[in-house]
Amino acid sequence: MCVPKGSIYDRSTVHGVVLRNVDDIGLIRELEGELDLDVWRAGMPGVKDAHIMVRPQYKEKFLARLDEAGIQHYVHNNDVVRALDDFEVKFNQWKLRRNNDAIYNTYPRYGEIEAYLDRLGQEYPNIVTVVNAGNTFEGRPMKYVRISTTNFEDPNKPIYILDAAMHSREWVTPPVALYTIHRLVEDLRNEDRDLLENVDWVILPVFNPDGWEFSHVQNRMWRRSRSFNATISPICYGADLNRNFDIFFGTFSVSSNPCSDIYPGPFAFSEIESRNVRDMLYLYLNRTQIYMNMHSYGNYILYGFDNYTLPHNVAQLHFVAAAMGAHIDARKMADAPYYAVGNSNYVLYGASGTSQDYAQEIGVPFSITLELPEFDDYGFVVPPEYIEQINTETYAGIAETARLAYLFYRHRL
Ligand SMILES: [Zn+2]
Repeated sequence: MCVPKGSIYDRSTVHGVVLRNVDDIGLIRELEGELDLDVWRAGMPGVKDAHIMVRPQYKEKFLARLDEAGIQHYVHNNDVVRALDDFEVKFNQWKLRRNNDAIYNTYPRYGEIEAYLDRLGQEYPNIVTVVNAGNTFEGRPMKYVRISTTNFEDPNKPIYILDAAMHSREWVTPPVALYTIHRLVEDLRNEDRDLLENVDWVILPVFNPDGWEFSHVQNRMWRRSRSFNATISPICYGADLNRNFDIFFGTFSVSSNPCSDIYPGPFAFSEIESRNVRDMLYLYLNRTQIYMNMHSYGNYILYGFDNYTLPHNVAQLHFVAAAMGAHIDARKMADAPYYAVGNSNYVLYGASGTSQDYAQEIGVPFSITLELPEFDDYGFVVPPEYIEQINTETYAGIAETARLAYLFYRHRL
């Protein structure tokens, strides 16, 4: 491939920032919009440092602002282009070595994902239905599968909605969605029969297909949608889909600069992809027990609300989220971090316009954001060798939350 993918990150650097308290987080959020920072890892005061990518023209100013505030920092990665190039070379070699690998053990293109879902629909017509949630800005169908032994007609079953790749550069999320589909449909084990019999599933492996493809062919670090409106910006495309939902829209952790990675869009639901997911949430709302919105990275399991208020069922919500974390942690690699669980604003940072808050607000009892693990210093470019581990450990957490969803639903807790 001869596309100069990394070149727009020429001389961009990633800095570790030693967070001491919420004020330091506040300063990072402020500078994020002002200096067009790309927050790779938000960090936690006293627990883990933030990782911030800075463009060369803002580097001096950024470091000066940290120094002024007395915040310690260090260079985490001084050559982003090389890191991205290294990833591509290794991924291509890995694909050649394992060219017959299952789709859930690699980073597939969108066409391959569509073909896999379609094949399952044909091979398992009694349990799998392929549905288009609507087309993207560029016209791609947003395909998801419904998995059910009762054709979605049994009112006694809760619905579990899982989505991935809302932020397209978070490549390790679709494999988890695809692996979950695989385990429920092609490799259902005896101990998991309850997951299929008691629960109806809606799984959308790629929330942002336009961004997904763009991240494969043009810019590995692309996060947003790919909409274009010359009256808003003649040069920058897209909006952050996880700022575009109609809840606290445009009020915090956003930037009004249409070129920013946290630009929420000109108005709530300006993006067709978030509208399609909104409509999908409403379609299943009366039975949906869990909405699981998958991201990468940082080992977090988060719930609403982002404005420091808590949902009325926060005790149960925390129970479900913590059970998920415990089940994943029990299977994690020895040197991998443990999951942190809690309200997104307390554990990580609050963001306005998220699908997590929106789903909670409209009535999904357990609306959760999952930030998949970080490994060493890889950030978003998780080496493909880690996919199987992340798939299996995360699946265990998803299975546990599905069982709890069923219990809560049956007992109307
Ligand atoms: Zn994300």
